[in-house]
Amino acid sequence: MRFSPGDDEFRGRVAEWLAANVPAELRGAGGPGREHEAFAERLAWNRRLAAAGWTCLGWPAAHGGHDATLRQQMIFYEEYARSRAPARVAVVGEELLGPTLIAFGTPEQRRRFLPPIAAVEELWCQGYSEPGAGSDLAAVATTAVPDGGQWVITGQKMWTSLAHVADWCFVLARTEPGSRRSAGLSYLLVPMRQPGVTVRPIRQLTGTSEFNEVFFDGARAELGHVVGAPGDGWRIAKATLEFERGVGMLGQQVGFRRELEELVELARRTEAGDDPLIRDRLARAWVGLEVIRAYALDTLGESAGTGAEASVLKVLWSRWHQALGELAMDVRGAASMAGAPMAGTDDGDLDGWQRLFLFGRAETIYGGSDEIQRNIIATRALGLPRQARP
Ligand SMILES: Cc1cc2nc3c(=O)[nH]c(=O)nc-3n(C[C@H](O)[C@H](O)[C@H](O)COP(=O)(O)OP(=O)(O)OC[C@H]3O[C@@H](n4cnc5c(N)ncnc54)[C@H](O)[C@@H]3O)c2cc1C
Repeated sequence: MRFSPGDDEFRGRVAEWLAANVPAELRGAGGPGREHEAFAERLAWNRRLAAAGWTCLGWPAAHGGHDATLRQQMIFYEEYARSRAPARVAVVGEELLGPTLIAFGTPEQRRRFLPPIAAVEELWCQGYSEPGAGSDLAAVATTAVPDGGQWVITGQKMWTSLAHVADWCFVLARTEPGSRRSAGLSYLLVPMRQPGVTVRPIRQLTGTSEFNEVFFDGARAELGHVVGAPGDGWRIAKATLEFERGVGMLGQQVGFRRELEELVELARRTEAGDDPLIRDRLARAWVGLEVIRAYALDTLGESAGTGAEASVLKVLWSRWHQALGELAMDVRGAASMAGAPMAGTDDGDLDGWQRLFLFGRAETIYGGSDEIQRNIIATRALGLPRQARP
């Protein structure tokens, strides 16, 4: 957990740049349950970050990144949260697809797709889940068939975060007719802005719509825009998921410490701060966050391990954050119910704590549900037999 003098110097540089550059009016904008806030302004901000060299920190310099160590990335996200800089909008490309292309893409694919991700010129979304394929992702039914030098894609994706603002989608599709389960799937790079793609927003518990149904109806992708060999999509898709659950989470949980500090502050100012059970839970939350941070520093970026580390981390942080939302409701007591979105109302009256509490329900679902992470930990870390499939 010790940081080197070089790390401290890096922290100083990050903090100084952010202090001088974060627009005051955007402080605290965006984030889970609030992706609709000041989107255009946050996009412009994300581009400024990119131009100043503060995106794709962990990517190799040879691919447009900055060779930052894991500690430096963590320092960046900590300072980012401290400065209350607005939530970034290009996370899916930067943290999921970029590392996947660096690991598995062809030189042409890297040349074509990495620079616009790094510059925040093209936004991405993740097209894995379908109405009949969530936890059981190998049940993907969307098909892609070659036709005249292109793939023609037909099917429906579900819960596609930020599809309504994305320029591209990485799509898991069945390219070998009659294939079953994880065989015969391919990982395709599909432009979103074309006639064969329809995006329909889904309203969430927070009253906002950050994810969508996406319909591919004869949509087209270049034949060469398949990552890995055709039919090898399962291996690539799983690698992306490990990036998502692993290093990608560092950025996702930027605000955790700030939220905890603000909650402690709120408890101090109210009666809740005198309640021994609330004090106990606040202390537990502090300990839990230290554990998450230590575990992340210890295991992420290590190539050795059981492969279950990213899943352990996902279970730790999602449970932690959900519990923080519940604790926030208890700290506020009856006031936490005021303005809650009843049926038919919009989210206009929700405050940050209510959003945190409500959106937190999603955190043990997206990126692979809690139960699925525990299955991975059971088999990979504990060596238990695989679950029987009916
Ligand atoms: C906010 C949010 C954003 C999302 N963004 C995206 C996105 O951008 N792109 C994308 O592709 N998907 C996205 N998803 C979808 C997400 O990956 C799926 O919701 C998730 O994988 C679960 O699948 P499901 O919803 O079909 O539930 P199901 O798979 O039907 O699961 C239902 C319940 O059964 C449990 N369960 C299922 N199988 C097992 C098992 N074998 N053992 C034990 N328990 C089991 C699950 O844990 C869950 O509790 C998002 C979801 C949310 C909530």
